[in-house]
Amino acid sequence: MYYNENTIIYFNGQFVKAAEAKIDLYSQSLHYGYAVFEGIRSYPVNGGTKMFKGNEHYDRLRHSAEVMKIPFSYSTDQLVELTYETLDRNNFTDAYIRPIVLCSPNMSLSKGKESYLAIQAWEWTNGYMSNKMKIMTSTYRRPNADAFHVDAKVSGHYVNSILACQEAKDNGFDEALVLDSNGFVAESSGANIFYENDGVLYTAPKGNILPGITRATIIDICNELSIPVEEKLFTPSAMRGADAGFFCGTAAEVVALSSLDNVPFKKNWEDSLSYIIQQAYKCKVLEKPFRLEQEVA
Ligand code: PMP
Repeated sequence: MYYNENTIIYFNGQFVKAAEAKIDLYSQSLHYGYAVFEGIRSYPVNGGTKMFKGNEHYDRLRHSAEVMKIPFSYSTDQLVELTYETLDRNNFTDAYIRPIVLCSPNMSLSKGKESYLAIQAWEWTNGYMSNKMKIMTSTYRRPNADAFHVDAKVSGHYVNSILACQEAKDNGFDEALVLDSNGFVAESSGANIFYENDGVLYTAPKGNILPGITRATIIDICNELSIPVEEKLFTPSAMRGADAGFFCGTAAEVVALSSLDNVPFKKNWEDSLSYIIQQAYKCKVLEKPFRLEQEVA
C-alpha cells in the first residue's frame, strides 16, 4: 500500500489526505500519458531527513514540464520546501517521493492549459538492494529521440518501460536491458546501466537515455576514486561476459547484475570496482565519509 487513511499529500495548493484527493477523469494526463514526474529518495542524515539531490530532481521536473509545454510555475526552492513539509506532516525520513504534474481536462491534442502538482511520498522499507539481477536484452527498443524528449521524465514514456520489464519477467528474468533504435545499449526500464571490464567502467552516452541523477553521481564517484569511466555506445555483446555490471537509479541505487542473457558476469561482485562504487554511493546518500578498503556498516 502506498497510503493509508492518515497519509497527507500536497495537492494543488494545499495539504490534503491522499485518500480524499481526486483527479478529473477528463484529464489530458490520463488519456494521453501527458504528465511529468520525478522519483526522489530521502534518507536519515545526521539525525534529520535529507533528500538526495532534491534540487537536481526538481530542476529536471521543471525542464520536463517546459519541453512538454505543460504550464508549471513552481520554483525549485518552493518544490523542495513543499516536499520537506509533506515528509514532515507524515513523519517520514527514509522515503520515496513521487511528485507529478498533471494536466487539466482537455481531450484535444493541443498543449496543456493548466496543471496540478501532487507530491506523494511513502516510507521506503526495501532497504539497500542486495539481490543480484538476471537481465535479458529486450525485444523492445527505447523511445526514439526523434519522436520523444527522451531526457524528460514523461509518464507516457513508461508504457515502453512496462512492456520491456514485463517481457523480462515473463521470460524468467528480473529486468530488461533495452537498446536504442540503432541497436546500442540504452538503459533499463527504469534505471541507467554501467558495466566494468579490465578496470574501466562504461555507460551509454546521453542522447537516447534518461540522463539519470544517479548516473551523474556514479561518474562523480569514479572521478573521485580515480576509477576510469567512459561514456560510449556499445552493443549487448560487448557487455555479455564482462567483469561486472550494475543498474543505477534513485530507487534502485546501485544494483549488481549477475548475468546478461544468461551469460554470467565474470568477477565475484565483492571483488569488483563496481562493488566499491556501490559502497561509496551508499556513503554519499547518507553523507558519511567513505574510505577505500573500508566496508560500510
Ligand atoms: N532511466 C529511466 C528510464 C528511469 O526511469 C530512471 C529513474 N528515474 C533512470 C534512468 C535513473 O534516473 P535517476 O538516477 O535520476 O533516478
